[in-house]
Order: sequence, then C-alpha cells, then structure tokens
Amino acid sequence: MNNKETNRKKILSIVAPAYNESTGLDEFYSRLISATKDLDLDLEIIYVNDGSQDNTLERMCKQRSDDPRITVIDLSRNFGKEIALTAGLDYALGDAVVVIDTDLQDPPELIPELVARWLDGNDVVNAKRIKRKGESWFKKFTSFMYYRFLFQLSDIKIPKDTGDFRLLNRDALDALLKLREKHRYMKGLFAWVGYSQVEVTYERDERYAGNTKWGFWGLVNLAFEGLTSFSVLPLRLASMVGVLSAFLAIIFGVLIITKKFLYGDPVAGYPSLVVLITFIGGIQLLALGVIGEYLGRVFNETKNRPLYIVKNMQRSLYLSEQEDNKS
Ligand code: UDP
Ligand code: MG
Repeated sequence: MNNKETNRKKILSIVAPAYNESTGLDEFYSRLISATKDLDLDLEIIYVNDGSQDNTLERMCKQRSDDPRITVIDLSRNFGKEIALTAGLDYALGDAVVVIDTDLQDPPELIPELVARWLDGNDVVNAKRIKRKGESWFKKFTSFMYYRFLFQLSDIKIPKDTGDFRLLNRDALDALLKLREKHRYMKGLFAWVGYSQVEVTYERDERYAGNTKWGFWGLVNLAFEGLTSFSVLPLRLASMVGVLSAFLAIIFGVLIITKKFLYGDPVAGYPSLVVLITFIGGIQLLALGVIGEYLGRVFNETKNRPLYIVKNMQRSLYLSEQEDNKS
C-alpha cells in the first residue's frame, strides 16, 4: 500500500441492502465478483442487513471473513429499504457507488456498462428497465401508470421506470447525503440532486429466491410517499375542489331561488340537502385528510431522530484504513 495517493486505483462501492435474502446472497456475491473482475477498479462491497430474521447476517459475515473488501452494517431493526440504502451510502468510500438489490433482480452484469458511462464523464448513470420478468401484470401496470402520474405531478422530473439501481459519482453522492429527511423516497432524491444523468437500459430479471418484501399496502404507502414528498399539488387540488364546489353551490342556490319566484316551485328540501351535505362533507374530509398527510410528515421531520441505528459493523479494509488515518 505504498504510494497509495499516487497510484491508487479508483474505488467502486457497491451498496446492497438486504432483508431476509439469505438464500440468494452467495449467488449474488459470486455474480457480482465475476461481473466486476475485469474492471480496473478496487471494489468495496457494503452490505446492509436491514433487520433480517433469517441468517442473512451470518451469510454476510461469512463472506466478510473471506473477503476484506466487504463492509457489513447490521441495523438494529428493519428500517425499510430506503433507509437501509441510506445507511449503506453513508459509509461508502468509493469514487463512485452502485446501488443494487441483493435479490438479483438488478443484474450485476450491467455494472461494467454503468462504470463505462461514468468513466465517459457522466455523474449519474441510471439503469432503466425495459422489461420486467416474473412480476404480475397488475404490478407492472400500476407501476407503469404511477411513474407517469408522478412524472406529471412532481416538481422535479423523476426518471420513469427506473428503480434504485444506478451509479453515482462522488459529487452526486455527497450532494445526496446532505438530504437527511426522514421520509425518504430515494428515487426522487436521486433525481433531486441533479448532475448530468444518463440512462442505460436492461431487462429486469425475476427474483432469484424468496418473495418481494413489498405487499400491496407497502406499495400504496411508497406511492403516497413519492407523491407527498415531491409535490404539494394534492394540497392545491383540495383548495381548487373547494372553490369549485362553492361555485357550484352558488349556482344551485340561484337556480332554486329563480325557480321559486318564476314558477312558484316548492323547494324539495330534504333530498337536495342530503345530497349537498354528503357532498360537501366528503370533500371536507378529503381535504382534511390531505392536510393531515402533510402535517404528519412535518411532525415526523421535526422529531429529529437519527435515520437509523447501527447495531454492529464489520468494516472493510478501506474503511478501517481510513479510520486509522483519522486517529
Ligand atoms: N429490502 C430491505 N429492507 C426492506 C425491504 C427490502 O433492505 O425492508 C431490500 C431487499 O432485500 C432487496 C431490495 O431491498 O435487496 C428490494 O426489495 P424487494 O425485492 O422486496 O422489492 P422489489 O424488487 O419487489 O421492488
Ligand atoms: Mg426485488
């Protein structure tokens, strides 16, 4: 390790969060290593164990004992993918970092291509999926619609059909790490930082083993997260619907009064009242709910809790070296 300043290779950090992925983790590791062995870079692998209940952690530590380029971050419980990812990124030392799922749905074989585009001078390289295997048409369809909807609504342009699989250079990563919000919609945050972003396309594989961790409600929540983190349009919409219904109510009122005076119509009070009250009541509740969503987010942000708790950590050789230098 002499002359490490002058002829040190660039380091590529791989950040891989895992929650109950023990069955596929060894396969992930071997595919990752064989996909990246020809790169002229030093590899650093950062595993984040997101409170798995199976022996994911043991697998990670086993790999760590054979390969000192691995950092194992063991979180104190399950914090969810977005936070686990952030923990990994926090400890990444590389000149560039690749974010990848450990379930092998993001093919490690694409990494050389991401790296090539980075070395061409791009700051962020997004992997865009053009096909998704092994997922229900319902998930594909809702995901397709959602990305387009979000793209229209949000103030920043979140790339369509792009998961978290991507490469960031040091500058973009440092910028991203400044964003410490508690409600983390990573795909949006990646886009928010800007920098020159390019895309490479790939076909998304089936999961190697196990099941997706996203149930229906999980996805609904993630969708809400994306919407409310990157757009205040729902709030604005509430006011607009309010104005519109007030306007309609005025017209309706005028109509009733003129009918009464012109034709002496008896006003059918009860049914029209019921309709009006339920309509207005519904809209009010909706608007309140929307406000509540945002208020809840403000509440969570103000609590000022750390994003995650690290229970245990095994540092890679790079990380230990850096910490030795500091002390
Ligand atoms: N994951 C995690 N914490 C969680 C849920 C998932 O770290 O609470 C990891 C998981 O191990 C995988 C990646 O995030 O590596 C993507 O999860 P999953 O495959 O369930 O999502 P999908 O591919 O269906 O979007
Ligand atoms: Mg997956």
